[in-house]
Amino acid sequence: MKGPEKYDFINIHDHGAEPIDGVFTIDNIMVHENRYPADINGIAYSCGAHPWNIMEDNIDKMISKVKEYASLPNVIAIGEAGFDRIRGSDEILQEKAFIAQVEISEEKGKPLFIHCVKAWDKLLVSHKKMNPKMKWIIHGFRGKPELAKQLLDKGFYLSPWVEWAIRPESTSTLKSIPLKRLFLETDGFDIGIEPVYRVVAEHLQIGLQTLKKSIYDNFYNVFYKSSLV
Ligand SMILES: [Zn+2]
Repeated sequence: MKGPEKYDFINIHDHGAEPIDGVFTIDNIMVHENRYPADINGIAYSCGAHPWNIMEDNIDKMISKVKEYASLPNVIAIGEAGFDRIRGSDEILQEKAFIAQVEISEEKGKPLFIHCVKAWDKLLVSHKKMNPKMKWIIHGFRGKPELAKQLLDKGFYLSPWVEWAIRPESTSTLKSIPLKRLFLETDGFDIGIEPVYRVVAEHLQIGLQTLKKSIYDNFYNVFYKSSLV
């Protein structure tokens, strides 16, 4: 499986990533975009049908494209998939697409990236019902410590929304996420992952190397130990 070098910064979720020395990025392809997971140094992919883009007349096509991409060796995760009560299609359609993608994630043995907006109840119920073997990573997390705790208790990994993660007022919630469940991402935001690591390490009052090591270990646990890739 394509993965980071031991001392790489890991950008767990980006859009349209460029290769950068010393950085390993998971570039997220939303299947309606018509992008192909090209073989680029330091870049692997997640592929999914985003809840914003699912429609009655494209859902089957989108799911079969996720399935097709999910078989490629440089596609190491499924998603982002999930629920959005603010934007996107109706909930029944979102759920249909979500369940299909959980099944692909389980079948291919590749972890799942979650997009969730104001639908945490729905996500937690799905997690309980489907009881997945693969790890689920919440991308763009910016909830309260209570929500973080609820998700952590169920085994989720959290990758905070970049603009939120670097705000000093987020420090107390960030501190409530154990290092062994934390990832970092840029999500298409033009900042670079290294400055995000530096700011977060400073807010958490830990060394940069400690943060790098623990995110590498998390990657290892989610993608090598738990997955079948
Ligand atoms: Zn994203």
